[in-house]
Amino acid sequence: MNLDFDAGDHLGPTRIIQVREPGIGLEGLLVIDNIAAGPAIGGLRMAPDVSLAECARLARAMTLKNAAASLAHGGAKSVLVGNPKMPAAEKERLIRAFASALRDCHDYIFGPDMGTDESCMAWVKDETGRAVGLPSELGGIPLDELGATGWGLFQAIREAAPDCELELDGARVVVQGFGAVGRHVARFLAAEGARIVAVSDSRGAIVDPNGLDLECLQELKRAGRSVAELEGGTALAAEQIIDIECDIWIPAARPDVIDERNVDRLRTRLLAEGANIPVTAGAEARLHEKGVLTLPDFIANAGGVICAAMEYRHLSQTAAFDALRDKVRANTRAMLDAARVAGVSPRQAAEQLATTRVEKAMRLKRWSLY
Ligand code: NAD
Repeated sequence: MNLDFDAGDHLGPTRIIQVREPGIGLEGLLVIDNIAAGPAIGGLRMAPDVSLAECARLARAMTLKNAAASLAHGGAKSVLVGNPKMPAAEKERLIRAFASALRDCHDYIFGPDMGTDESCMAWVKDETGRAVGLPSELGGIPLDELGATGWGLFQAIREAAPDCELELDGARVVVQGFGAVGRHVARFLAAEGARIVAVSDSRGAIVDPNGLDLECLQELKRAGRSVAELEGGTALAAEQIIDIECDIWIPAARPDVIDERNVDRLRTRLLAEGANIPVTAGAEARLHEKGVLTLPDFIANAGGVICAAMEYRHLSQTAAFDALRDKVRANTRAMLDAARVAGVSPRQAAEQLATTRVEKAMRLKRWSLY
């Protein structure tokens, strides 16, 4: 595993732990970035090509996301080298061994990420006593099934809509990626009167200016087919979804889908980032310059981690969703107001807000020299 890393900064990392057990092919890392606000929550990622630099970057993103969501949790991330599609028994053995090695890291609460799911979290809980994103049989809230992140994204959009003089009733919405995030945010927006005029998945896009039938789209996905196969709409290549004019454009698929080369093709008033880092920094700056309101990922897609933190406190599904709504709306409002007052982009305002919260929490710690 590549262990290159620069030294970090005044926020963290506070601890980097390497776990190796060559006899069983175990190689992993934990980066605890910052724990001033409380024990860190962050996903366990399993992939063949993970590195220390990536782990540290993801851990920092969690510090900022958790602080921005005003959770009593710091940020961390763990990575495990391996193909997540390896035989289940082998995967269980590796994950259990990794978790067991980190049993005494009480400052870290494991969550699911790429390559891990609720079963993996059940094994981790069994080994360490600490995990979120658990199966419902162990008190977990099924985040993706209920659409926690989609619900949070919807709340952020609802809060931001008046700032760009947008009514959700009748608004035209485009959703890139019809998975756990995309299909739920589409459902919540449609219930508010919005028209979902185009959606895409990895195999294609479908467009209907009169609004797509979300139930039929869900049926297609459940049957393992592409949204582009929907009857009645116009099918396009997946990438062409960028060209569909709308009021709200929602990336909910892959990183870096909007960059400096294609950003000017977007015709929308609001862009709400469901995916992580779907828009490059340069493209975000360009959108800001053009007056397109962009809701940054770590504010708009924090629903999953907020719900996970509520699960950790044993809140019911209803209470967790209510807390999620209140937190995302309050943080979106704080970000938009700060951006307006300071004349900066929403992302700059959100980063400032989150960093200030972490620094304040650090000043309240006994051993902090900050
Ligand atoms: P998912 O796997 O359930 O769905 C992803 C969807 O994107 C699928 O429909 C897939 O076909 C589609 N897709 C892939 N490549 C595409 C392409 N090039 N063009 C169009 N569509 C494409 O994943 P998800 O859980 O919905 O996550 C989506 C994004 O949101 C990821 O970036 C993820 O990191 C981020 N995210 C998810 C959550 C969560 O709670 N699930 C929370 C925060 C952030």
